[in-house]
Amino acid sequence: MDTPGPWRRAAAGAGLLAPDGTIAATIFAEMSALAATTGAINLGQGFPDEDGPREVLAAAAEAIRSGANQYPPGTGIPQLRRAIAEHQHRFYGLDYDPDREVLVTAGATEALAATLLALVEPGDEVVTFEPFYDAYGALIALAGARHVTVALRAPDFAPDLDELAKAVTDRTKIILVNNPHNPTGATFDDATLRAVVELAHRHNAYIVTDEVYEHLRFETPHTPVARLEGASDRTISISSGGKTFSTTGWKIGWITAKPALITAILAVKQFLTYVNGAPFQPAIAVGLGLPDSFFTGVADTLRSKRDLLSSGLRSAGFDVFPSHGSYFVVADAAPLGFPDAVGFCRTLPERAGVVAIPLSAFYTSAHRGEARSLVRFAFCKKEEVLERAAAQLAGMTR
Ligand SMILES: *Cc1c(COP(=O)(O)O)cnc(C)c1O
Repeated sequence: MDTPGPWRRAAAGAGLLAPDGTIAATIFAEMSALAATTGAINLGQGFPDEDGPREVLAAAAEAIRSGANQYPPGTGIPQLRRAIAEHQHRFYGLDYDPDREVLVTAGATEALAATLLALVEPGDEVVTFEPFYDAYGALIALAGARHVTVALRAPDFAPDLDELAKAVTDRTKIILVNNPHNPTGATFDDATLRAVVELAHRHNAYIVTDEVYEHLRFETPHTPVARLEGASDRTISISSGGKTFSTTGWKIGWITAKPALITAILAVKQFLTYVNGAPFQPAIAVGLGLPDSFFTGVADTLRSKRDLLSSGLRSAGFDVFPSHGSYFVVADAAPLGFPDAVGFCRTLPERAGVVAIPLSAFYTSAHRGEARSLVRFAFCKKEEVLERAAAQLAGMTR
């Protein structure tokens, strides 16, 4: 493909631009295709294989039947904006005005895209941890910004706060914090979050949070950055219903922030998708209003799935790093005699009938080597599927 245009920046940002200017397939597409052709168990892509709460599904079906099938309001339906504000108050004691400080988006992805496109000027720097959710690199590049990263290293994937302080400068426009963290399953302690807020103040940067796994934490309760002292004015908090309610195909996300920031982001958002998901918006509103037992229940279920897969991987001979949240656990294939995760993942369907993603998919091309033999496995699958995967991995041909 030799078409000019910003696609080249996005592809380069995602590390997909080959030296000859062609665009390479993502490892996600390659691994999903492998899963399809070999019939292997797909622990690559992070989507649940079971439906979410019945009430939520029923509310969407009912919304379609009762005519919620046209463009909803540009900022989202009032019922959902109220439910988001109430959720922020109920779980975190945060107060947002549903009319001026809440914006419904086409998933967290559009929220991130609109925020970056709205707030960064070409040449600005955006700081993220590394590895990072793959869309960040592409979106930062599309916005014309420079991507600066701070390493998260095994075994605990906690950042070095001195390295963080060095990465943030007066050129930094945004510090983007994904907590709980995909792909590592790390959750950041309060000292790290406080350091982010302090650096944002010192260098006059915004903080953008990606909290799509806020309810999928296994040990400690979630603290949104916006709740820390001095954070609320400069923090754009992003989340989504996809992971919490097992509705990743619905793409209902949201932003909470001060009115001036919402206005700026809305100016971009209205020309990306304008609106989306009319019948899914009232359904996610129902989900956000479910009793506490639902939210603790999803975390409990996922915790036992994490334990199941982690112990299976350990018995199979992997080094397994602790996952404290999200859908994912990282394991090291080196003790099994595989020093390169990319090569390992390409042969894993054949060896064990399992698909996983090499951690290198979540690094800039400059730092990809640091991922070495690390592999990301998703555990948001039925227990019997995880048990089968564990058994197959234990019998893996070397
Ligand atoms: C899944 C995921 C998203 C995308 O959320 P959508 O609501 O599906 O757009 C964003 N960030 C992280 C870290 C994710 O894992």
